[in-house]
Amino acid sequence: MSKAVQFYNYGGPEVLKYENVEVGTPAKGKIRLKQTAIGLNFIDVYHRTGLYPQATLPSGIGLEAAGIIEEIGPGVTDLHIGDRVAYGTGPIGSYAENRIIPADKVILIPERISDNQAASMMLQGMTTEYLIRRTYCVQPGDIVLFHAAAGGVGSIAIQWLNALGATVIGTVGSQEKAEIAKAKGCHHIINYKTEDFVERVKDITNGKGVNVVYDSVGKDTFMGSLDCLKVRGTMVTFGNASGPVPAIEPLILNGKGGLYLTRPSLAHYCGTHADMLASATALFDAVSSGAIKIEVKQSYSLSDAVTAHKDLEARKTTGSTILIPE
Ligand code: NDP
Repeated sequence: MSKAVQFYNYGGPEVLKYENVEVGTPAKGKIRLKQTAIGLNFIDVYHRTGLYPQATLPSGIGLEAAGIIEEIGPGVTDLHIGDRVAYGTGPIGSYAENRIIPADKVILIPERISDNQAASMMLQGMTTEYLIRRTYCVQPGDIVLFHAAAGGVGSIAIQWLNALGATVIGTVGSQEKAEIAKAKGCHHIINYKTEDFVERVKDITNGKGVNVVYDSVGKDTFMGSLDCLKVRGTMVTFGNASGPVPAIEPLILNGKGGLYLTRPSLAHYCGTHADMLASATALFDAVSSGAIKIEVKQSYSLSDAVTAHKDLEARKTTGSTILIPE
């Protein structure tokens, strides 16, 4: 028997149950992991609430973790018992002490990166990689607006954007988060709870607007974000922290300057092992070069996933968060 977090109904954090589960032995192409650290991500909230529904309930939860391989199924030749590995693209069910997972979903963790760091950065770091290097390829001199700059994805993205030579405008929801965003390298910081972020962006850019907006806040910021873009700018809406973005007419994009609009997910950019490996390698290289520092800002016991979810949704967390199995 092993411990895992599951939910039987969609709802608030309290639907998460810490339970005994049977793990079994890995079938062909799979491995069994003893997990050492588990990444907490906002997408876990969408899974729990049913915004992103599951095929069946009850369901496990979580897409990211690090651990040690303790058993290997038939046909797995490139991994060994004792290897340290991590994953950040699921499958769902990472909130667990032990689990079985397809071998092609994991990546070896480089020696210089700890398990806690790996578990805290795979999903958010690979997301940053595809957003700023592939969805819109950020160039030196670009001006970028990044919402929720002191969050998990935000803290990695601000550092990486700096390394690419962009000017970064970050939004945050408190003074404490403004200090964090500044320390990560934001050139301009806007508290979007107390300031009109559209007006501030206009002031900062002398009315011209930014090349690209990365908006994971969703409903509350989407329309304002469109107004922050320069002519033919790119709007990347990649999350729903405040709720999903309502439908819009394409003509709106015309009226606001022939804008490009995209709504990407990690699955579109890291859906194959090759794409995932390339993305993770770029991330590990950026961390090794010192361009990105990975700090775990909050750590909870796996049995206390309910509190971790409450804090994440209440906007109490900054940077990355992990859950630790007992
Ligand atoms: P964060 O650590 O960034 O937490 C979310 C942050 O969003 C909060 O801290 C808060 O920061 C801000 N926020 C604004 N409005 C609200 C609200 N009403 N309720 C809660 N939070 C709010 O989370 P992650 O780093 O895990 O993820 C960031 C975003 O990126 C999420 O929306 C997530 O879904 C998305 N994402 C998308 C991916 C994709 O491929 N499409 C992959 C990974 C993440 P503040 O207080 O400063 O406003």
